[in-house]
Amino acid sequence: MKIDFDKSNGLVPVIIQDEKTLEVLMLGYMNEAAYQKTSSENKVTFFSRTKNRLWTKGEESGNFLHVISIKEDCDNDTLLIKVKPEGPTCHTGSRSCFNTEYNQNFIFELENIIHDRYTNPVEGSYINKLRGKGINKIAQKVGEEGVETVIAALNETEHDFVNEVSDLVFHLFVLMKEKNVNLDTIAKNLAARHSAKVDS
Ligand code: AMP
Ligand code: ZN
Ligand code: ZN
Ligand code: ZN
Repeated sequence: MKIDFDKSNGLVPVIIQDEKTLEVLMLGYMNEAAYQKTSSENKVTFFSRTKNRLWTKGEESGNFLHVISIKEDCDNDTLLIKVKPEGPTCHTGSRSCFNTEYNQNFIFELENIIHDRYTNPVEGSYINKLRGKGINKIAQKVGEEGVETVIAALNETEHDFVNEVSDLVFHLFVLMKEKNVNLDTIAKNLAARHSAKVDS
């Protein structure tokens, strides 16, 4: 543990980030006791300046922040904690205490939604209907949407193109789910190719 509590009068700022969507969820402070409790329980505990005591986020609401990783910054006076949030982080019921745009992150959320539908089927769900048709039909659908995307790119309006790319991405995600390949695997693969290129 390299974090230096003395440097900031015993209290360091802690950025809480969603490990999946990378959204900044909130900012809190930790003293050494809060840090120790967080590390040992793998649930975020802050030192609350208003409550003037250790505060485990979720202690009343049940909306705990489960720790995925803890990193100190370049000069060891700030922490970045990646979490898996259990329910909304903000006491207002929002996912984040900052009203950040959700759109970029919806692409990750979509993967979660598809996973949820596979785990708990919903009456009338298109994802569940698609799943019922089997992998051949889903793969064929990706092919069709790929062709429609190409046609829209070359002959149709920007609006049509956006819609066809959306169809393609959606069906591709369902096919990935069928094959048990997640976005994280794709991102890692692309990153590895990129660094292989940079390093050589
Ligand atoms: P909780 O820790 O979620 O059980 O919430 C307990 C209390 O902490 C709430 O009643 C709020 O006063 C406060 N609180 C909860 N979440 C936040 C937050 N994200 N930022 C600031 N205060 C919070
Ligand atoms: Zn710093
Ligand atoms: Zn809040
Ligand atoms: Zn289409």
